[in-house]
Amino acid sequence: MIIVVKRDSKKEQIENLIEWVKDLGLDVHVSVGQNSTVLGLIGDTSKVDVDLVSTLDIVEKVQRVQEPYKNVNRKFHPDDTVIEVAGNKIGGGYFQVIAGPCSVESEKQIIAVAESVKKSGATFLRGGAFKPRTSPYAFQGLGADGIKYLLKAKEETGLPIVTELMSERDIDLFADVDVIQIGARNMQNFNLLKEVGKLNNPILLKRGLANTLQELLMSAEYIMSEGNDRIILCERGIRTFETATRNTLDIACIPVLHGLTHLPVIVDPSHSTGFSRLVPSMSAASVSAGADGLIIEVHNDPIHALCDGAQSLSCEQFEELFAKIKMLVPIADKKFR
Ligand code: PEP
Ligand code: MN
Repeated sequence: MIIVVKRDSKKEQIENLIEWVKDLGLDVHVSVGQNSTVLGLIGDTSKVDVDLVSTLDIVEKVQRVQEPYKNVNRKFHPDDTVIEVAGNKIGGGYFQVIAGPCSVESEKQIIAVAESVKKSGATFLRGGAFKPRTSPYAFQGLGADGIKYLLKAKEETGLPIVTELMSERDIDLFADVDVIQIGARNMQNFNLLKEVGKLNNPILLKRGLANTLQELLMSAEYIMSEGNDRIILCERGIRTFETATRNTLDIACIPVLHGLTHLPVIVDPSHSTGFSRLVPSMSAASVSAGADGLIIEVHNDPIHALCDGAQSLSCEQFEELFAKIKMLVPIADKKFR
């Protein structure tokens, strides 16, 4: 249920209303926007007398919210959420590009890619230290050393880092990680979601391989219900009957999610397609569809990459793509920084 408070209401009147709602055993999410204040009620709202609340002087509107997700619902928070990391904003009109290899392979490699993508214009460095591989015999990532090398690359270039956490067991290693990625395969690892919900680090939550948007939003709700409201949603392609691409990029999910939630939505055109040659066109499509950013796999030597080489752009290809993205972003009515 949401209660929209009239514009000219006094702070004290709003506080009294919040206290009254809390006394009913409900939690209140307060969103102070430019045009109105919205109180989102969380819990069993069946005991709230809608007619009674509607008669209060300061109340403009009372509305029941049918969706099972509350905190992440746009009805609870009409304005876009803007997430700021090291001076870079994502959401609410701000666009960012995250780039880097699928996996951190060595200190030298990650620093070289970081320097190159930064020069091209990327504002975040990605790189997996803990890798969720389909085969237990495939390269599993450098683990703690991978995080160490990412932090070194951050020190060298100033780029904030994005890397995947697979298990709550490793959470202490992620204290200095700027954005913690929860990968597609862990989107519904609810214990992990609850743990990252207790952290202050922003979370990049990737859509599961076969998950609906409602399920994605419920996973974001798990994180936010624990207190962490800095969540970036990521479309990375879903499993369909089509085999010509690694996954099917659900481009329509961008405007759909923007309608349902206030959280920023970015796109991963690399995992969405599986082929580097498709990454430029799908990046452009994502910008046009209103994405708030891109996360792109870039490797110094894609042919010899230990993971996801086929979908990785070379540093030169990324430079060329970034020049195009730079022109498209203002046309899509977005800006960098
Ligand atoms: C990745 O970003 O390298 C990754 C494993 O992504 P996803 O979880 O989307 O498959
Ligand atoms: Mn990958």
